[in-house]
Amino acid sequence: MVPEVTGSSPVGRPIFHLWLERQVTAFWTEPDFDDHELVELVRHRESGLTAIFAVHSSHLGPGAGGTRFWHYPDPAMAMRDALRLSRGMSYKNAMAGLPMGGGKAVVLADAQRTKTPAMLAALGDAIEALGGRYVTAEDVGMTDADMVAIAERTSFVTGLPAKHAGAAGGDPGPFTARGVYLGIRAAVAHKFGRESMEGVHVAIQGTGSVGGGTARLLAADGAKLTLADIDRERADDLARELGGEVVPAEAIMDVECDVFSPNALGAILDDEGIARLAAPVVAGGANNQLALERHGPALAARGILYAPDYVINAGGIIAVTLEYLARQTGEHCGVEQVQAKLDEIPGRLSAIWKDAETTGRSPDQVADAMAQKLIGR
Ligand code: NAD
Repeated sequence: MVPEVTGSSPVGRPIFHLWLERQVTAFWTEPDFDDHELVELVRHRESGLTAIFAVHSSHLGPGAGGTRFWHYPDPAMAMRDALRLSRGMSYKNAMAGLPMGGGKAVVLADAQRTKTPAMLAALGDAIEALGGRYVTAEDVGMTDADMVAIAERTSFVTGLPAKHAGAAGGDPGPFTARGVYLGIRAAVAHKFGRESMEGVHVAIQGTGSVGGGTARLLAADGAKLTLADIDRERADDLARELGGEVVPAEAIMDVECDVFSPNALGAILDDEGIARLAAPVVAGGANNQLALERHGPALAARGILYAPDYVINAGGIIAVTLEYLARQTGEHCGVEQVQAKLDEIPGRLSAIWKDAETTGRSPDQVADAMAQKLIGR
């Protein structure tokens, strides 16, 4: 466990920094530490940047994963996020068949989430100093404009705006949404033996970039939608555009439907959430949906088909990785190449579900075992 610091710092430094440093020196005692290859704290006094870089595995290539820009009330949560998310990226990249390892950067923002050009420059310099062991892209709180600013200081960055129409690049959200849509179709085919989405009822939690994009693709296929977002107006606007019902955010997991699609928060599949579910399928883009390892088997025990999150939501990392690799070699990468790679997601999910049925393991356990094998663990 992390030692808690009480009282004031003997050298007059803010208690937060002392606490954070202690935290970092003891990161290997964290339950989420999984023999990560690199964990680094960067403090840049002039710009106020505090960031944690974590590379979990570089077995398949440089550690790739976005930078999260977030205010953490407790710095231990930032370390936990960096450790968990970088390991998740190892699994996600391996399962997507990408020649990349798993990495993540977490910026500890202030409560107002103030982001300055100086901070982005310092972040770019820190990434450059890692010499290519870590490649960044967008994540929560970071935009493609931020990636452009970082690219002024380092080439180890992707998710940059597309150079021309039809070229890969830019916001990974729409690619993630397309992968989630394909994954939902695969789940419906597997669970109900249905090739068409006509009339299939999908409840979507979160109508942002991924949830909204998925909803549009499903609506075009004739699916019936129930939408929810804590930003009610956002859900209402989408329902006006696509048709469908809107329910309060706290009611979406109770909706009787064919597919529950989480596209907002992580850890929603806990004891209470699983007990509430009235859907035979869970397939959505949110990261880290299972609160604890035991919740994968708990879903299976209820007969609910689960699409492992890091398999179904790999569309974004596929897009930014193909963009990055093309830039490295000077080759062209078009959207159609990204689409072709996204088209592999349904087959990968089907293989996981079939293995789960044969072996009696839950789909998340099957996926974890496959990913661990691929990264040599
Ligand atoms: P976003 O910010 O565009 O959208 C998230 C939406 O969820 C927002 O509209 C927000 O108001 C809503 N929301 C938050 N809490 C909610 C709650 N309790 N109930 C209902 N709605 C709630 O984010 P995004 O890019 O669409 O990402 C959504 C999820 O997908 C996140 O978990 C993210 O980590 C994951 N993900 C995103 C990508 C990507 O390419 N954008 C890739 C992989 C995974």
